[in-house]
Amino acid sequence: MKNDIRIGNGYDVHVLAEGLPFYLGGVKVEHTKGCIAHSDGDVAIHALCDAMLGALAIGDIGKHFPDTSDEFKGIDSKILLARTCALVRQCGYTLVNADITLLLQRPKIAPYIPQMREALAGVLGTDTGRISIKATTTEKLGFVGREEGVAAYAVVLLAAGE
Ligand code: MG
Repeated sequence: MKNDIRIGNGYDVHVLAEGLPFYLGGVKVEHTKGCIAHSDGDVAIHALCDAMLGALAIGDIGKHFPDTSDEFKGIDSKILLARTCALVRQCGYTLVNADITLLLQRPKIAPYIPQMREALAGVLGTDTGRISIKATTTEKLGFVGREEGVAAYAVVLLAAGE
């Protein structure tokens, strides 16, 4: 197929608990809470990996990196992202752009966004201009608003070729 492009979307949620380190968008965020997870619990990266796998129609993050496997226990999610990126290349595609929306009530994420974009672009071997990260609260509504958890949405576009 000529000009083959593929879109994918991803979504992830993790529960927040007091006293855990908080990893988001490939960086450590200063907070009193962090995510309960088998890996480091980075919802931004998990949503992004799922979006890339979805675009390729090759399953999801749970299929490729099972949370029952000791190999992935406490793993830096940037490693999962690098491995997902390698799958994209193996399938003959390249990332055009990614757009991620983070949902959390606290803390303020804006100061971390440039660092997150650099971290993710670095792992993906692309420019920060191709990686968008936005954040919103949920106006104190729902599990995000009650600070019981954080969520992330990601959309990616892949194109065939280098
Ligand atoms: Mg996850």
